[in-house]
Amino acid sequence: AKAAGRAKFQFYTDEMNRAATARLDIERKLRGAAARGEFELWYQPQFDSRQGHLTGLEALVRWRHPEDGLIAPPRFIPLAEETGVIVEIGTWVLREACRQARQWLDAGLPQLRISVNLSVRQLREKCLVETVSAALAASDLRPGLLELEITESAVMDNPDEAVALLQALKDLGVRIAIDDFGTGHSSLSYLKLFPLDHLKIDRSFVSDIEHDANDAMIVAAAVSLAHNLGLSVIAEGVESAVQVARLRELGCDELQGFHFSRPVTADVVENSLRTVWRT
Ligand code: C2E
Ligand code: CA
Ligand code: CA
Ligand code: CA
Repeated sequence: AKAAGRAKFQFYTDEMNRAATARLDIERKLRGAAARGEFELWYQPQFDSRQGHLTGLEALVRWRHPEDGLIAPPRFIPLAEETGVIVEIGTWVLREACRQARQWLDAGLPQLRISVNLSVRQLREKCLVETVSAALAASDLRPGLLELEITESAVMDNPDEAVALLQALKDLGVRIAIDDFGTGHSSLSYLKLFPLDHLKIDRSFVSDIEHDANDAMIVAAAVSLAHNLGLSVIAEGVESAVQVARLRELGCDELQGFHFSRPVTADVVENSLRTVWRT
C-alpha cells in the first residue's frame, strides 16, 4: 500500500510538474509577444435591437502564435493577468483599436464606436489615463468613438478608487461600459456614482432566457435599473431568434452574439460594412 501511495504521489508530482512547465512555457512565449507583433484584434458587431442597424464593434484579442496557431483569450488572458503581461498586451490593444478605427474612417467607412476590454490590472496602473489619451492622440480619433469595457467585478473590487479613475477616463471624452453585469456583487448605490454609458448583461442570463423565468426577471430588473440611471443596455451572447425577440421585449437596446456574427477579422468587417451590415 505504501508503494502504491508513493507511486500515486509520484504520478501527481509528475502531472503538476508538467502543468507548471506548460505554464512557464506559455508565460515565456507571452512576454514580448506584443512587441513581436503576434497579437491580432478581431471584432464582433453590436446591433440596435429594434432598427437592426450596426451600433458598434467590440475588439477581442487573438494570439497568432508562430507554432501553436491562433489562440483564443481564455487560454492566455488569465495567465497574462497573473503575470502582469496583460498591461503590455492591453496597451497594444488600445493603440491597435484606435489605429484601425482611424484607418476605417480614412477609407470612407461610416463612423463606428469601438469597444476595448480593460483588465483589472490595467485599472491599477498609474498611467492608464495617459495610455488611453496617447492612443487616441496617435490616431487622431474622436474620444467619443472609443468605449472602454470594464467588468463589474473589477470596479467593485475597490469602488471608491474606481469612481475617481472612471471619472478621469470619462473626462477624456471616452465612453464607459460595465461588462459581465450580473456576475459579480454590485452595490447599487455605487452604480449610481460611476460615470457609465453602457451596461452589458452577461451571457449567462441570456443563454436560457426562453426557458428560465428567473433569468428573464433579472434582465428586466437590470434594464429598468440601467434606464433609470440613464444607461443604455446591451445583451451579449445572443444565439437565437427567440432570444432576440425576448430581449427586445424586455427592453434591451442593443444585442451582440453569434446569432448576428462571431468575432471576425478587420477585412471581414470592411466587407460586411459594404454589404450586409446597415449603419
Ligand atoms: P468578454 O469581454 O465577455 O467577450 C465576449 C466573449 O464571448 C468573446 O470571447 C466572444 O467571442 C464570446 N461570444 C460572443 N458572442 C457569443 C455567443 O453568442 N455565444 C457564446 N458562447 N460566446 C459568445 P473571446 O473572444 O474568447 O474572449 C473571452 C474573454 O477574454 C472576453 O470576454 C474578455 O474577458 C477577454 N478578452 C478578450 N479580448 C481582450 C482584451 O483585449 N483585453 C482583455 N483584458 N481581455 C480580453
Ligand atoms: Ca467585453
Ligand atoms: Ca462580457
Ligand atoms: Ca439560468
